Amino acid sequence: MNSWIELPFEKIFLYTEEHDDLNPRRLKKFLKEKVSCDVVLKGDFFQEKYHEGLEERIAETRVREKTKRVFLKPLPKEIEIENKIIKDGRNISGIIYDGIALTALMRDLLDREEKREHTVVITKRSLGTLEMNENRYHVRAVLASVPSSVSITGIVEGPAKPRAYYLAGKKEKENTSDFRPMQYSDERMESAVRSYLIQTIFWRLTGAPFCSKKGCRLYNSHWQKELMDYQVKGELCGDHEDILRCFRER
Ligand SMILES: [Zn+2]
Repeated sequence: MNSWIELPFEKIFLYTEEHDDLNPRRLKKFLKEKVSCDVVLKGDFFQEKYHEGLEERIAETRVREKTKRVFLKPLPKEIEIENKIIKDGRNISGIIYDGIALTALMRDLLDREEKREHTVVITKRSLGTLEMNENRYHVRAVLASVPSSVSITGIVEGPAKPRAYYLAGKKEKENTSDFRPMQYSDERMESAVRSYLIQTIFWRLTGAPFCSKKGCRLYNSHWQKELMDYQVKGELCGDHEDILRCFRER
């Protein structure tokens, strides 16, 4: 038995917002098999953690400028929108949240055990970050942190589509049979989510969520084509599969 390394957690808390193409119980089974630890399924994160004034705290994390991290006191209308989103769990388009600020807010809402173990929030919200070497916010599919987030909107909008796709009209897009980027409602969504869940696990296990090998689920995809080839159809490469096996057999 390999005992050279210990799992830094014994449980995964998995929060998921409702989505037609995601089956939380299947995701739980997948994680249990891959990581061999308890997986506790939870519902919509902000519904479960609701307290008075939460709408305002969420609205405060909205991205206000594409090129700068600026936070403003939210307008009453924006707070009302957040209230609706929490209550209805409805899909949102157009609002981007500062991923670092929203993560800090979520971390504040975690209980002790959730902080100590590995907690992941699957959300429809769009999370952006402004990295040191970038001149504007980019929408992310995954944010590895405490808690980690996997964003459905980020999977659709984060990895770029080919330039030709942006230039094509609606009809042409429908006729492009050889390449179909991820849609909001898409039977491939769950496979992509699985890969991003595994990325958060590797971040927690090793500090390194990405792999440079093409074909590995952990490949840091910047294009939709890569997302399809590696996150949707990929598997873990031999090295990463070995690392997980060590944890499973601990
Ligand atoms: Zn790999």
